[in-house]
Amino acid sequence: MARGQQKIHSQQKNAKKQAGQKKKQGHDQKAAAKAALIYTCTVCRTQMPDPKTFKQHFESKHPKTPLPPELADVQA
Ligand SMILES: [Zn+2]
Repeated sequence: MARGQQKIHSQQKNAKKQAGQKKKQGHDQKAAAKAALIYTCTVCRTQMPDPKTFKQHFESKHPKTPLPPELADVQA
C-alpha cells in the first residue's frame, strides 16, 4: 500500500516539476524575444532587429509620418 502511494506521490511531483520547467521555458523565450529587440514598424508592420534600423526605415519609408517617441533619442 505504502509503495502505491509513494508512486502516486512521485508522479504528482514529476508533473509539478514539468509544469515548472514549462513555465520557466516560456519565461525564457519571452526574455529572449525582448533581448532580440524586435521593432515593428507602426505604419507598415515591418520588423527590424534594432532601433537604428527602425529609425532609418521610418525616415526613408514614412517621412511624412511623425517619428514614434521611442525613436526620438535614437542616433541613426
Ligand atoms: Zn514602415
